[in-house]
Amino acid sequence: MEKKYLKHIELKGKVVFCRNDFNVPLNENGEIVDDTRLEASLPTLKYLIDNGARIVCASHMGRPEGEKKPELSLKPVADKLSGMLNTKVMFNGKITGKEIGKIKSGLKEGEILLLENLRFDPGETKNGRKFAKELAKGIDVYVNNAFAVSHRKHASVVRITGFVPISVKGFLLKREIDYLSLAIEKPPENFCIILGGAKVSDKIPLILNLMDKVKTILIGGAMSYTFLKAKGINVGNSKVEDDFIEMCSDIFKKAEENNVKILLPVDHIASVTIEPNVTIKMVKIGEEIPENMTGLDIGMDTAQLYTEEIKRAELIVWNGPMGVFEIDLFSGGTTEIAKAVAESTALSIVGGGDTVLAVHKAGVGGAISHISTGGGASLAFLSGKKLPGIEALSEVL
Ligand code: AMP
Repeated sequence: MEKKYLKHIELKGKVVFCRNDFNVPLNENGEIVDDTRLEASLPTLKYLIDNGARIVCASHMGRPEGEKKPELSLKPVADKLSGMLNTKVMFNGKITGKEIGKIKSGLKEGEILLLENLRFDPGETKNGRKFAKELAKGIDVYVNNAFAVSHRKHASVVRITGFVPISVKGFLLKREIDYLSLAIEKPPENFCIILGGAKVSDKIPLILNLMDKVKTILIGGAMSYTFLKAKGINVGNSKVEDDFIEMCSDIFKKAEENNVKILLPVDHIASVTIEPNVTIKMVKIGEEIPENMTGLDIGMDTAQLYTEEIKRAELIVWNGPMGVFEIDLFSGGTTEIAKAVAESTALSIVGGGDTVLAVHKAGVGGAISHISTGGGASLAFLSGKKLPGIEALSEVL
């Protein structure tokens, strides 16, 4: 049976609970410094308005750990959204209770109420029954439009769906799943995965899950040093997860069995400390990283080698920067890879907060087919895990 999503729902006059990810970064004056997440939720919100829904919006912000923390209030989001949607977004600083109940039932078609930060209530992260029931009071339709938290068992993501008649995906969530499914269902033959970032342990489940589907895996970032060490290569003082060396050796074996090509860095940018103005050493092909030095970026020969692979790809999934890209001295490898992905004719999917940042820093965000809004959620999905927030949806009318 075809799964129903927002497009299939009769919305006129219905009270709709829309779970969004409005977890935007704020500066010390409480001003929103990046509204990408708000922008991403607009198509769903506009559709709800245009189709006469009575809208209750909800989101978390930061980690208040069940306490009311004024600096994590969603009030700035309500103000910003009002401007973006060109309509007043009501906000009274509460999540549940009598006043909220009154506003909910008094909503007219196309009107929006934004609840206060869901995580001010301890019931949210505990997937609390009572809290979920309160949130669901008077709601006709539940819409999950928050991919970034769909891997979390939270009340507004999972438990709430048991108390509403219909629960479906919003447009943002649908788009995420459609794109990411390309990688886990029937990817094209020339499927290339690029992995980097801090920890090899985070990315192993993804490698194992896609081993029978991928053709090439390009590895950079700190995680490459555990793989290099597993090959018996000296990596100096670079970050290595010793507990995972054996697992990396296993992955090489599995790759051979599956005819998968795993590429590791052949040259590096290294230094003694991680600082913006430190002296760096280019560790060339055939050289070893000196004992007192840490590998902090892939070298230009590696970037060139990876670029050639990227050119051949039909589908690219990229998660994790190639080096400590936050510091300009060590951002060259990541920038080169970002440009190569952007220039390739492949369908490209980029996920993970840092990788998305790096792509924007390189100025090529517009050339990526799909930039995922969920770091942990996209890794979990690509690792073959069922996302509780998606499993909980009824998706039938
Ligand atoms: P992740 O969240 O796993 O994608 O990791 C991103 C982080 O990995 C960034 O903050 C990078 O600075 C860091 N990173 C990337 N390469 C290295 C490296 N060679 N050594 C230390 N940290 C790194």
